[in-house]
Amino acid sequence: MSKQQWTYRQSDFGTFSACPEQLRRKIYDPLPQLTNSDQTRGNICHAVFEDIGQRVLDGYVPLMDDVNSVAAWHVARMFPTVDVWNSPKERIEAAVYANVEGWFHDILPKLSLTAVEEQFRVKFYETDEYEVWLTGTPDVEDAVLGTVDYKCPGSFRKKGNGKPGGEDWNHTRWDIQSHVYTWVAAHKDNDFDSVREFHRVEIVEGEHHWLTIRRGPDDWAALRDFVDGVVQLQRADLAVWPQNWTSYKCGPKWCEYWSVCRGKHLGDNPW
Ligand code: SF4
Repeated sequence: MSKQQWTYRQSDFGTFSACPEQLRRKIYDPLPQLTNSDQTRGNICHAVFEDIGQRVLDGYVPLMDDVNSVAAWHVARMFPTVDVWNSPKERIEAAVYANVEGWFHDILPKLSLTAVEEQFRVKFYETDEYEVWLTGTPDVEDAVLGTVDYKCPGSFRKKGNGKPGGEDWNHTRWDIQSHVYTWVAAHKDNDFDSVREFHRVEIVEGEHHWLTIRRGPDDWAALRDFVDGVVQLQRADLAVWPQNWTSYKCGPKWCEYWSVCRGKHLGDNPW
């Protein structure tokens, strides 16, 4: 008899960390999510980075005009799909153009691309009863750096002395994506003894903050324990998982389950 399979994206673990109950609901009761302008800003930038990155892989040397025209095409395609504008349209558009320009001048020249947006699905581990698989799509595989991931939020996570990076030490402690993607890179090379690098490049209004996170065998062993906690919870087939109210996501603006979860009691405008 074939074994039961559990498959996760790294973002599932991020959701689990923010609120286990939110992940349970996403798995068993997925809801259509409204598209907001912050997501669209990130999606357009990622689409430009991918399109231009693919041209580089094809041997083409892109110009800034190419970057802008690709951005304009994605703006025209994606802006009409926005349901909720968290910032004025002009501001989002200006941020997109600033980000792609900053990326083109300051980040792309540092990369030696070998792949962009290449999907993986690999078996992480198995027991006598089940298999656990990881799937995902890293933004960039780089011949020198390893895995590079872009983030295009509305502001840097936290500024120390007026500069981004004040949260780097704390972020490095818990970042799950770097665990997953470095493990996948080790799996690809069949070398689980070497430390790998994950590069998290945050781009805001054309400025960027580059955080390099190193992960190795101890981190991956810890990741396995973390993932098995999720698997065991899912295998227990419970009607509800623990709720976490401490994440910023636990509110009417960021959790699509608010009205059927905590918001049942607190209403639409709780604070
Ligand atoms: S409303 Fe809060 S507790 Fe409920 S699923 Fe969303 S984040 Fe979790």
